[in-house]
Order: sequence, then structure tokens, then C-alpha cells
Amino acid sequence: MTHDEVLELLPAYLDAELHEVGEIERHLASCDECSAELASYRVMLAELSSLPDSDTAPRAGLAARAIAQILERSAAARIRGAAREHPVAVAAGIGGAAIAAIATVYAINRSRRTTHAVAEATA
Ligand SMILES: [Zn+2]
Repeated sequence: MTHDEVLELLPAYLDAELHEVGEIERHLASCDECSAELASYRVMLAELSSLPDSDTAPRAGLAARAIAQILERSAAARIRGAAREHPVAVAAGIGGAAIAAIATVYAINRSRRTTHAVAEATA
């Protein structure tokens, strides 16, 4: 399993929906970037689950699925743009705020990965 495959599967791994757990854990043991990404997801989920209103706080699985959907749709930039233009509207829903936070982390990670790929290509 490649580094990029593991990165894409981390949200589902976090949600315990995968059969390839052993493969992912072997990769995590030797890859600081994937371990850091997983740790950042776990921090976000911990923050989500500690939100005061337990009726509206998304469950861990829900957040992990939200991350997976964002990865699939590459909607990070759009959501970040919406958050910039309509911060009150986005922040009005806890789910919206959470997705914006997740999208921001994903966008940062994606740009870091792209930079890395360019560095490799030009090396
Ligand atoms: Zn990796």
C-alpha cells in the first residue's frame, strides 16, 4: 500500500470501517507524515466530541465520513471560500464549522503534499 493510498484511507481507518487495518498500521509505524495526519484527525474528533451540546455534536464516525467525503469531492477550497465570505452562516451550524475546520486541515495537508511532489519531480 502506498503512502498516498494510506493518506486517503485514514478517515475510514479512524472510523474502523476498513479491512486493511494491518497494512495501514504497518505503514503508520514507518511514516511520520501519515502518523501526524492521523493524530490531527484524532485531535479534531476529540474536539468535536467535547463540544458542550451533546445533542448536536457529531459522532466520531460522522466526522470521519465528513472527512472522507471532503477528500472525495475536493471541496476544501470551496468550503474555505464560503467560510471567508459567510463566516456567520458557516459558524451557525456546529457541523458547518467542523467541516470547515476539517477542510482547512485537509487543504493545508494537500498543499504540503503537492509541494513535496513538486520537490520530488524536480530533484
Ligand atoms: Zn505515509
